[in-house]
Amino acid sequence: MLIDYHMHTRLTDGVGEPVDYARVALARGLHEIGCSDHAPLRDRETNWTQKKSDLPVYVEMVRRAQREFPQLSIKLGLEVDFIPGHEDWVRELAAMYPWDYFLGSVHFIGDWAVDLSAKNWEGYDVDERWRAYFDLWEQAARSRLFDSLAHPDLPKKFGHRPQQRFSDIFCHALDVVARCDVAIEVSTAGLRRPCREMYPSEEFLRLAYQRNIPVTLGSDAHLPEETGQDFDRAVELLRACGYREICLFTRRQRQLVPLG
Ligand SMILES: [Zn+2]
Ligand SMILES: [Zn+2]
Repeated sequence: MLIDYHMHTRLTDGVGEPVDYARVALARGLHEIGCSDHAPLRDRETNWTQKKSDLPVYVEMVRRAQREFPQLSIKLGLEVDFIPGHEDWVRELAAMYPWDYFLGSVHFIGDWAVDLSAKNWEGYDVDERWRAYFDLWEQAARSRLFDSLAHPDLPKKFGHRPQQRFSDIFCHALDVVARCDVAIEVSTAGLRRPCREMYPSEEFLRLAYQRNIPVTLGSDAHLPEETGQDFDRAVELLRACGYREICLFTRRQRQLVPLG
């Protein structure tokens, strides 16, 4: 099966509504999609997250797509920021609607945004930022608030690569992920960014496979036409790493289904 679990709508930094993404998904032969717009943050509004008052609008948009495209399975998800100290807010969100899955994302190290702009990295020690990111990523796994961790090696987005080999840090983080029984996302979005590489890298994905860590697939589409983009390459990479199955979530229950 081909399942795209990562896409955004006009309520945040995306364009269009779930119906527009569903139309593309059907044309591309996907079996299932999940909408995963940015959840509201606990204590502030941004131009790329939902407002708290948007949540019912969002859920109704997904329901509308489900009604209009009964031939496509459309899941109700959210991309939720992991911010230490805001765990209760994530639990509160989880109780509001019958979500199918939560993608957990680390977009912030403190107030500093990981993936906002290349300029934002100026003056920072790249290795230190990668270490700080993976420390939070591990905490996100340990929180057990999420079903899959999105774009695992996001700090490479603008091409900032650590000087030092990070295999030890990847292994440490993935040991935690395996122990906490969380999935990780394979995202084709990296191919459209300056790093020109899937999130995560092949090295990272091989280490994940060795630990039996299940994966979700996502395009992180912000435009309907990005739905399912480059999934042939994602399938190829997953197969090369040993994967034969991907995750499907229903009401936050995981099921493994054949890949491709
Ligand atoms: Zn994200
Ligand atoms: Zn996203």
